[in-house]
Amino acid sequence: RFITFEGIDGAGKSTHIAALTERLAQGGAAVVNTREPGGTVLAETLRGLFLHSGMDSLTEALLVFAGRRDHLQRVIEPALAAGQTVLCDRFTDASFAYQGAGRGMDLSILETLEDWVQEGRQPDLTLWFDLPALMAAQRRAAAREADRFEQQDLEFFERVRGGYAERAAAAPQRFARIDASLSVPEVAAQIAAVMEARGW
Ligand code: C5P
Repeated sequence: RFITFEGIDGAGKSTHIAALTERLAQGGAAVVNTREPGGTVLAETLRGLFLHSGMDSLTEALLVFAGRRDHLQRVIEPALAAGQTVLCDRFTDASFAYQGAGRGMDLSILETLEDWVQEGRQPDLTLWFDLPALMAAQRRAAAREADRFEQQDLEFFERVRGGYAERAAAAPQRFARIDASLSVPEVAAQIAAVMEARGW
């Protein structure tokens, strides 16, 4: 199974990825925990470039998708072929949300890259951690996180959020919206309910 985690910065994905990894592993599943942008030596190198040097959105998208191709070939596809459960912190929906909705990139280019790079591979489930950008910003401030992206304004993150909403509406079977404005135990309960509903 291929499960991805999406949401704007400060949505609280990391906490719940760790918790779900532990729960699945305790249940006997072989879990591969990975992330994007990144997940391989090459893709992590590209991530470093992408996070720390300014570039236009198409360049950004090309780097992210190049890393994604490497990640799929070296990590994700082999793990799925071996029957392992892959938990991935961000995947292609983030490209549509950040480079597309956030930075205004032409979605048809992203769709083409998605087709080329993934050759039909899609997550089996995407847990979308949704909350207002203001609340996410308050959490980031409390955690004292800051980088190039964190400083972007609330409008940017509301656009990104809207991008996720569009992707969710287009793939309702794959997406599960999690109300990430709630407390950690409440979010964990929502995730458990989604997994249970699928018999996972
Ligand atoms: O999820 P993570 O915090 O590792 O992502 C690193 C940064 O890259 C985040 O600030 C996120 O907003 C940004 N990002 C992006 N475009 C993507 C994926 C992530 O701008 N496709």
